[in-house]
Amino acid sequence: MAMKFYNTLTRRKESFKPLKKKKVGIYSCGPTVYGFAHIGNYRAYVFEDVLCRLLRARGYQVHQIMNITDVDDKTIRGSMDEGKTLSEYTQPFREVFFGDLKTLHIEPAECYPLATQHIPQMIEIAEKLLRRGLAYESEGSIYFRISKFPEYGKLSRMDLEQVQSAERMDQDEYEKEEARDFCLWKAAREGEPFWESPFGRGRPGWHLECSAMSMHYLGAEFDIHTGGEDNIFPHHENEIAQSEGVMGKPFVRNWMHCKFLIVDGQKMSKSKGNCYTLRDLLQKGYTPLAIRYLLLSAHYRSVLNFTFSGLEQAQKTLERLYAFMKRLRDHRTRSEQDSSLEEIQAAQKAFEEALDDDLNVPQGLAVLFDLIRSLNQRLETGRLGQKDRKVALKFFEDANKVLGIFSKPDGALDQKINQMVREREGARKRKDFKTADRLRKRILELGIILEDTGGTVRWRRKLDGENL
Ligand code: AMP
Ligand code: ZN
Repeated sequence: MAMKFYNTLTRRKESFKPLKKKKVGIYSCGPTVYGFAHIGNYRAYVFEDVLCRLLRARGYQVHQIMNITDVDDKTIRGSMDEGKTLSEYTQPFREVFFGDLKTLHIEPAECYPLATQHIPQMIEIAEKLLRRGLAYESEGSIYFRISKFPEYGKLSRMDLEQVQSAERMDQDEYEKEEARDFCLWKAAREGEPFWESPFGRGRPGWHLECSAMSMHYLGAEFDIHTGGEDNIFPHHENEIAQSEGVMGKPFVRNWMHCKFLIVDGQKMSKSKGNCYTLRDLLQKGYTPLAIRYLLLSAHYRSVLNFTFSGLEQAQKTLERLYAFMKRLRDHRTRSEQDSSLEEIQAAQKAFEEALDDDLNVPQGLAVLFDLIRSLNQRLETGRLGQKDRKVALKFFEDANKVLGIFSKPDGALDQKINQMVREREGARKRKDFKTADRLRKRILELGIILEDTGGTVRWRRKLDGENL
């Protein structure tokens, strides 16, 4: 069965067919680096990560580009307030962003281009749009002339009247032909950073950077463009107008947008002051993978309401998963009775189908946890044969390549820990509590938690960031 993805442009699920047979070009709108990204932003990045991981798991070579907006009104204001250059001002936020991606097990994109390093490409597009009559100059700024692009509104399905009122809310002080026209290039204001251009000193409008960088790295037409739902209008609508206006051909084949992460019914956003950064949550003792799990556990096209109880639930669910994985890895029996092979293979098929059906992660997770429940019973009663155990292990590891919710164990370390746990058990039996205590401390230092369940001691890895 072919993979299907929902396309915001057509409002339908469509079979996925990339332009090149085994290669997929993806452009994802990245962060504006004027502050720390909040976990609403990370919902978008985690969704994009699962999409890229899934495509890789299906054998595609993925080329993902994520831009970094390091020049816009907010970065300029911030840098001027602090008396820093743009680059000095944005650098710490860029660094924290890349650190956060790693912490959340988000696989790196192939390239993270900075807007400030692609100004010539942006100027070139603005010049071409001017030559084609799709843009005009006014007081040193360049605007896109929406009336000359009849397809404007095809992504957001806004009619021009709606566009008119939406654009008027934009506090633009420059003189435009029509209120709905948007800015491609802003004339320099006193004291602000600027670049030289054929239209005089100035800086690019935000929308222009994504047209310029996506086409620079992926070509005039590419497979998938992603972002949060707030990007649909005006940002992505404007990208289409700029790119198709300048190239005269279709720009993006498939537009994919995730719905918001909300808090108490409101979008999580910096301006509303209701946002949590990754650090905020880690400082409260939540683990990175529990946060990742929470973000990916809802379907990307449904709104996700953030609550701390939801996060705690995610943490507990992961603990269950880790305990099961460890039991599965450690299970030793020669028994081949009661084959579970059919059940495991059916789960594998159901998991793949769920993910191939527009990234239905919640359905995929339900399949995993149903299988865990069933295999746990077999593990408890020693009825899981070695062959089946290996097939199951491979399935969970493959599923994790797409979901990224647990780390691979270190075999040598596992052996060492097993040895120490056995020694500690021996010491306890001998009533040598001093040795048992010393061993417990050393085990803890290795990040291992011992759990005494029904007379048998099991161990599990401390979760990233878990407080003991
Ligand atoms: P920004 O830094 O505001 O340009 O946003 C970066 C990315 O995060 C974009 O793809 C946004 O659409 C997305 N985003 C922002 N807020 C949220 C939210 N509350 N939920 C989901 N995605 C969001
Ligand atoms: Zn963008």
